[in-house]
Amino acid sequence: MNRSIDWDSELNGSKLGRLNSRTIDYSKTEIQPGDEAPQPFSFMTDALPHPQMPCWITYTNEQVHELIRANLHRAPMYTGQIRSSGPRYCPSIEDKVVRFSDKDRHQLFLEPEGRSTQEVYVNGISTSLPRDVQDQMFKLIPGLEKAQIMRYGYAVEYDFCPPDQLYPWLETKTVQGLYFAGQLNGTTGYEEAGAQGLVAGASAALRLKGHDGLILKRDEAYIGVLVDDLVTCGVDEPYRMFTSRAEYRMMLRQDNADRRLTPIGHKLGLVSEDRYQRFIDKTECIESARRVVASLRIGDVTGDRFLKRNEVTWKQLHEMFPESLSQFPEEIGLQVEYDTKYAGYISRQQVQVERQQRMLDKQIPKNFDYGAIVSLRNEARQKFSRVRPLNLDQAGRISGITPSDVALVLAYLENPRLRNLAQMEKEDGAE
Ligand SMILES: Cc1cc2nc3c(=O)[nH]c(=O)nc-3n(C[C@H](O)[C@H](O)[C@H](O)COP(=O)(O)OP(=O)(O)OC[C@H]3O[C@@H](n4cnc5c(N)ncnc54)[C@H](O)[C@@H]3O)c2cc1C
Repeated sequence: MNRSIDWDSELNGSKLGRLNSRTIDYSKTEIQPGDEAPQPFSFMTDALPHPQMPCWITYTNEQVHELIRANLHRAPMYTGQIRSSGPRYCPSIEDKVVRFSDKDRHQLFLEPEGRSTQEVYVNGISTSLPRDVQDQMFKLIPGLEKAQIMRYGYAVEYDFCPPDQLYPWLETKTVQGLYFAGQLNGTTGYEEAGAQGLVAGASAALRLKGHDGLILKRDEAYIGVLVDDLVTCGVDEPYRMFTSRAEYRMMLRQDNADRRLTPIGHKLGLVSEDRYQRFIDKTECIESARRVVASLRIGDVTGDRFLKRNEVTWKQLHEMFPESLSQFPEEIGLQVEYDTKYAGYISRQQVQVERQQRMLDKQIPKNFDYGAIVSLRNEARQKFSRVRPLNLDQAGRISGITPSDVALVLAYLENPRLRNLAQMEKEDGAE
């Protein structure tokens, strides 16, 4: 048995420089304050007591672009020294100057790296140009004329293992017990790496306990979308998670992440009792608020129908019925508002999910012989054999696979007579 893992050609990206905050003239830049009421990432964090630090905005200009154009032949991504694919959503400044040549300036965000450092990250000007060009470049940008560079930008290039050789619980298909996560799978980004680490780690632990690995579905979590995209479609450029990659965006909201995932985490032993209890209390409180809202009357209209209207908010309803609604924290009220407003859209998505689920339920045996389907296109046969989709849903989303390829697999799965016929044809051919 061939147990080797494939490596693929490199992916690349260029990185940003860091400047010394004390040497930036902020009076020539525009302030960009943070959110007025920043939302914590964790549902366990009740408040963010630290004052927020602002970012600042400045711009490149024609002189900077001219300098870059004059030095393009010295940028490794242009000289051919680096030939791999880069991230299209985060192009280097040299890329931007070439690709968007009609633009006479590009926005740069000056982002403080932290409270206890003077380093400032210059977002928007990642570059693979040599140091002397970077020195000249910053001298031409308003506010940065005298800025001291603490770290220069640079290009990175890395190998990866094509992720379509993984199961959706991130175990390699060829080596049982070996799990891959992060940049190794062709992704880029902190969250992308962290999310995969969670799936791979949980899956490895579950396997040790004799259970199946962790699979999150596309309608349950962005992690589900990420992993499914990777293992089904593979990557040909550094993969980054975007909300636009999810077809069930109405359901995958940041505000309901705890309601979608806490029960799953608790079942797996990944959620502490303390967190779980908090979740149960919150769920009960939302239910209770929903009942109270439904019992309210605004003329002939019930409170929930009233809240469904576009122009009506929880805040307004609260002001109209303080004696009934003041008992509920704003966070709970907002959940009731979103649930009520999105209910129609969500139930439509739910129907889609259920339809998809029926398809998903059609499992494909691990050793299914795609070679036996004589009428299958060669390309489809190769892709199915390589990816080895677990079910028809996954099969249908492999890039380059057509609905008729999937229909053929379905026909063979459902009709043993066809399978026998194909086997006979194969055997005839072998003689
Ligand atoms: C300069 C820079 C800036 C970036 N900025 C951002 C950003 O702003 N936002 C963002 O989302 N992403 C950013 N990224 C991308 C992000 O950092 C990576 O995609 C992510 O950290 C990859 O995580 P990982 O766990 O897969 O790999 P890594 O973080 O590279 O971890 C791999 C670990 O394995 C260790 N290791 C390697 N070989 C061995 C071995 N043989 N034995 C034991 N240990 C080994 C390494 O030391 C390392 O600690 C940036 C990357 C760079 C380089």
